[in-house]
Amino acid sequence: MTDQYAVIGNPVAHSLSPQIHAQFARATGQDLAYGRILAPREGFRDAVLAFRAAGGKGLNVTLPFKHEAWRVAGVRSGFALAAGAVNTLSFEGGSIVGHNTDGIGLVRDLTQNLRAGIRGKRVLLMGAGGASYGVMEPLLREQPESVVVANRTLEKAVELVGYFEKLQSCALQGFSARAYGALAGTQYDIVINATSAGLEGAMPPLPEEILAPGALAYDMVYARRTPFLDFAQARGARFADGLGMLVEQAAESFDIWRGVRPETAPVIRALRQKAEE
Ligand code: NAP
Repeated sequence: MTDQYAVIGNPVAHSLSPQIHAQFARATGQDLAYGRILAPREGFRDAVLAFRAAGGKGLNVTLPFKHEAWRVAGVRSGFALAAGAVNTLSFEGGSIVGHNTDGIGLVRDLTQNLRAGIRGKRVLLMGAGGASYGVMEPLLREQPESVVVANRTLEKAVELVGYFEKLQSCALQGFSARAYGALAGTQYDIVINATSAGLEGAMPPLPEEILAPGALAYDMVYARRTPFLDFAQARGARFADGLGMLVEQAAESFDIWRGVRPETAPVIRALRQKAEE
C-alpha cells in the first residue's frame, strides 16, 4: 500500500509542500502520496489522530498549529524541544514523534545553497514569533560571533533571548535583544527577516547603514517580493527569499520519514521557474 503523508493547517490551500514532496518522491523512487488537510481551528488533535488511524505515516504542520503539534507529540526531538513548536510529526509504532526542521532548513539554505557561512558572523534576526523560536537553536549551534534579536514588541525579543540563554545554561557572548530604534550605528553580516511584515507589504524600520559590506539579507517570506528585499537590493547587498528554507526543511522531514535525503537544488529551481511564469 502507498504510504500516506500530508500537510495540515488552516488555511492550507496555498501550501507548496504537496508539490515539493511529490518531486522528492519521484526523484528518490519512494512510493508515497502526499495531500493537504484543512483542520478546523479547534479540531487539530482529532484530525491528526484520524489521519494516523487511517494508516497515515506522517504530517507536516503549518500555521496555526505548530504549538499544538508540540503538545500532541508524545516524544520530541531536541530541536522541537528547544523551539517549543513542531512542524513535522512522524507516527512510529505507538508513538507520535514531533520534530522541528525549520532551523535546519534555514541553516542549510544559508550555508549550502547561498554559501553564507554563519560561523564568526554578526547576525541580526528580526522577529520574535514562532519562526524565530524555531530557528534559534540551530542558528546558535553554527557559532556566529553575535546574534541580536530585534522585534517591534521588545519584551518578546527579551523573552526569547532569556529563554535560549537558559536552555544553553550560560549567557551566550553577543546574544541580546534590541528595539529597532536601538540598532542605529550597528552593522551585521547576515540580516534575517523572520517577521511576517512582508506579507503586508511592510518591513521593520531598519537604519540606513544596517547591512555591512558583503552582507546577506534573507527574508523567510517566499513567493513574493518584500520591501526588505527591495531595501537590500537598493543598497547593492546580496539577498534571498525563504523558498530555499522551505524546500530544505521539507527535505529534512522527508529524510526523517523515509530515511532518504532528496536533492533540493532541482526542486528549488523548478519552484522558482514556476513562480516566475
Ligand atoms: P508569528 O509567530 O505570527 O510572528 C510574527 C512576527 O512578525 C512577530 O515578531 C511580529 O512582531 C512581527 N511583525 C509582524 N508584522 C510586523 C510589522 N509590520 N513590522 C515589524 N514586525 C512585524 O509568525 P512566524 O510563525 O514567526 O512567521 C514569520 C514569517 O516567517 C511568516 O511570514 C512565515 O511565512 C515565515 N516562515 C517561513 C518559513 C520558510 O520555510 N520559508 C518557515 C517558517 C516561517 P510583534 O511581536 O511585535 O507582533
